[in-house]
Amino acid sequence: MAALEILAAAAAAAAIAAWAFLWVWDSSERIRNREQAGLRDDESRALLVIAHPDDEAMFFAPTVLGLGRGGHRLSLLCFSAGNYYNQGKIRKKELLQSCEVLGIPPSRVMIIDNRDFPDDPDVQWNTESVASVLLQYIQVNGISLVVTFDARGVSGHNNHIALYTAVRSLHSEGKLPKGCSVLTLQSVNVLRKYISFLDLPFSLSHTQDVLFVLTSEEVARAKRAMSCHHSQLLWFRRLYVLFSRYMRINSLHFL
Ligand SMILES: [Zn+2]
Repeated sequence: MAALEILAAAAAAAAIAAWAFLWVWDSSERIRNREQAGLRDDESRALLVIAHPDDEAMFFAPTVLGLGRGGHRLSLLCFSAGNYYNQGKIRKKELLQSCEVLGIPPSRVMIIDNRDFPDDPDVQWNTESVASVLLQYIQVNGISLVVTFDARGVSGHNNHIALYTAVRSLHSEGKLPKGCSVLTLQSVNVLRKYISFLDLPFSLSHTQDVLFVLTSEEVARAKRAMSCHHSQLLWFRRLYVLFSRYMRINSLHFL
């Protein structure tokens, strides 16, 4: 009887292992397919648009590393120096260091530091001003893919949402150059936000267009980029780095 039970347990364990293997294999296939969807144009000039130094590492690291993997030439446009606590000077330096870790050289990083776009959740950035600066950058640099926040801005920060509003207005008014597409980073609910890689099944079933999932080596690189932002590494951000799915997974949606 005991031998039969052991045999049954072994069979059940083998079945579970086979199922897990198939699930992981199937997921990696689906992830590969998702990455390719709509992003076939290798060596395209892509632009990541963020509001504050650290957005690139906290929220967009999977996109930055995923686009780099696909051979896209990525530039970064940051609309503020992150001067909310008068640390703008330090934070600009930290952004350049983080970008280098993520594979974006300083020559392709532009930080806007002016009064029109203060780092402040209580100030509404003027949509037309943001759109005009953005459009000029896109035209001068021949950008064919713009990546930014969605309407909920991941954390709900007004400055993040202002970037979405501006890019959406450029898109809907047909002002973007021909062939220039826009990807927005899908915001997820707070439960999904902090379950790290366990969010993968939800991401696989809820991603609208493009999904980037980092390998463990790439996650280590994303964490290294985040650690460049010394001035921001308070205890709750350290917890964020450990638990946030945005340090490992990005789901994106084409406008
Ligand atoms: Zn931000």
